[in-house]
Amino acid sequence: MLFHLDAGHAGRDAKGNPVTPGKRTPDGSMLEWEFNSKVAEYVEAELKNYQNVSVKRADDRTGRTDVSLSERVNRANRDKASVFVSIHANAYGSGWNSANGIETFVYTSKPKEAVKLANAVQNHMVKDTGRTNRGVKTAGFYVLKYTNMTAILCECGFMTSREEAALLKSDSYRRKIAHAIVKGLVECYGLKAIKKESETPKPSPQGKVFYRVVTGSFINRENSNDRMKELKQKGFDSFLDAFEKGGKTYFRCVTGSFASRKNAENRMAALDKVGFDSFLESYKK
Ligand SMILES: [Zn+2]
Repeated sequence: MLFHLDAGHAGRDAKGNPVTPGKRTPDGSMLEWEFNSKVAEYVEAELKNYQNVSVKRADDRTGRTDVSLSERVNRANRDKASVFVSIHANAYGSGWNSANGIETFVYTSKPKEAVKLANAVQNHMVKDTGRTNRGVKTAGFYVLKYTNMTAILCECGFMTSREEAALLKSDSYRRKIAHAIVKGLVECYGLKAIKKESETPKPSPQGKVFYRVVTGSFINRENSNDRMKELKQKGFDSFLDAFEKGGKTYFRCVTGSFASRKNAENRMAALDKVGFDSFLESYKK
């Protein structure tokens, strides 16, 4: 399924000037987009760990242009996205004040799936950050009204709160919020993690079992060579396999090595017919 992430507003133009008027902390130390876009980046990166998921951005990820709200909506509608998540930081007035906490919005018609997703995301955000729960609310925001798919808008803390502004600027808070959004999506849509390489049992060359037919094991190398000659006379090629056990070296006469147990047993039967006892030894290679 396709998720459209929408980092609210925009960053700086080529000259380094803020593109969106307002939308920053009262001291100008952080643009809202800096928070929004980082969270969107982290959400996108994390969603890549899930099966059958693709992610697009409705905003301009370079931050250089403030994509209009109608264009953001058009992008998601045109791509037939399944879910639209708009990421924002809140503000109350323009100076520092005590308004704080996290809230998530759905459209005023309270679409069922959006309410479910909003609740899941809101709960994770509040639980993971310990911030005030302002709840799931309704609003007629453009991106909620005109998107054809399930859409939510997250307000992840107040830029006008000194305490929350510091959090919004911190990488750990941004990651927490992103992780909470992903958890909400995973929960609502039953997303399955992509199995990591190490968890996938793959047939390694080390794991393949072979069977060798041993037609005698000797302490004396000469005896082993004699056995190989006898076998040769009966039409069986063998090789010598020396191995250490309990400080002694044993010389084994191996008359065939097989990937299939059945073939190894056939060889044993053939050896038995001409008077050689043998035993089967399996090993991994
Ligand atoms: Zn915003």
